[in-house]
Amino acid sequence: MSKSISQIAAELQGYDPHALTTERVSTFLSELVEPVLETEQVELFDALGRVLAEDIISPLSVPPHDNSAMDGFAFHGSELQPGLPLNLCIVGTALAGKVWQGTVHVGECVKIMTGAVMPPGLDTVVPQEFTRTEGHTISIPADLLKAGDNRRLRGEDLMAGKAALQQGERLGPAALGLLASLGLRNVRVHRRVRVAYFSTGDEILSAGDAPREGAVYDSNRYTVFGMLKQLGCEVIDLGVVRDDPALLEAAFTQVAARADAVITSGGVSTGEADHTRAMMKKLGDVAFWRIAMRPGRPMAVGHISTGCEDRQADGVGQIPSPSSAVLFGLPGNPVAVMVTFIAFVRPALLRMMGAKPEASVLLRAASEQTIRKKPGRTEYQRCVVSQRADGHLSVRTTGNQGSGVLSSMVQANGLIVLAHGQRDVAAGEEVSVLMLNEL
Ligand code: AMP
Ligand code: MG
Repeated sequence: MSKSISQIAAELQGYDPHALTTERVSTFLSELVEPVLETEQVELFDALGRVLAEDIISPLSVPPHDNSAMDGFAFHGSELQPGLPLNLCIVGTALAGKVWQGTVHVGECVKIMTGAVMPPGLDTVVPQEFTRTEGHTISIPADLLKAGDNRRLRGEDLMAGKAALQQGERLGPAALGLLASLGLRNVRVHRRVRVAYFSTGDEILSAGDAPREGAVYDSNRYTVFGMLKQLGCEVIDLGVVRDDPALLEAAFTQVAARADAVITSGGVSTGEADHTRAMMKKLGDVAFWRIAMRPGRPMAVGHISTGCEDRQADGVGQIPSPSSAVLFGLPGNPVAVMVTFIAFVRPALLRMMGAKPEASVLLRAASEQTIRKKPGRTEYQRCVVSQRADGHLSVRTTGNQGSGVLSSMVQANGLIVLAHGQRDVAAGEEVSVLMLNEL
């Protein structure tokens, strides 16, 4: 069972919804959400980006036999003598994919291809380009090799019976290849997390609407869609929902029945005259926060449930259990939406997806300019990180940092993260940067 807002709040000492640090928010959200339990079996080609729901124990060793890492000649490493060249007579050829069956005596070697099974007893390979060949004899220069060189050991990648991958792994290209190397065709993964989203606000136009004085086109649904897709979520687009209690209620009710989570944008700041907050309160167990951050700040989180009165007995007299969805009520400003998604929603969704927690890796780069920073809030500045001629990283901000300015987000390849207590940054000072391309 997931915890209620008040339970989590009670456990967090000094919890104050009107003054939350970003760290507090992360801790809170990790308590609020739970991994989806359902799993499914998918083919490897469909498993990219999915989260592994089982530990994979190697059914076999990879590689399955000792083999050559080079094209060259395999021989007994014990024949190498310090300071002396070694002459060997070629008695056969071992090709990849075939097992060479002969016997190799002292003074003999086998021509061998990369990946070919090492003939029995042989442990060392001299790469072809280091040898001189005369007729059936090769000569290996003195002190070039030691015993065991250029041989890959059976099981050096994966050993039969040992853990190859653990549940919670997000399957990237390398993991797919590794699973395939074990001869597997299918793998058990968590089902995709279903996330619904809609934009709120009477001033928000949908694509196709005629422009209107005082109105702006909806961008949040598109950024949210993009970020959810990149994360591998199943998305449910509920459009722009007008500021009408009945419409909002209908949207939230749909969400609770169909989705694991819902992301809204707009209408959560205290000054709002609209119905979004009221409906969240009515249908859910929701906290309204003010987070010490920029951009960002207002955010609503909690669970939205279908009302009991809406639940009807089905054909066999079963009353379906109440369904609920995790709510992430993001601010309205387009960059604030993206930053709060990256900072909070993404890690929470990863947890719901069943992924093992991963700390985000921040780079350190020298700021090309002074940056104004008030202590007492975490700030995210859109930036471009580049590599200087000397190899060090430097970073500059991408112009207008207004929380509605998406163009500076488009130009950015990272976000400078200025910690809660940090003050102004001097030119040349190092700052932490979260790279956006990895998200
Ligand atoms: P709000 O949080 O509702 O006060 O919105 C803050 C600002 O973000 C306002 O200027 C809104 O017009 C703008 N905004 C809200 N939702 C969207 C949206 N879906 N697309 C673009 N701008 C939006
Ligand atoms: Mg609004």
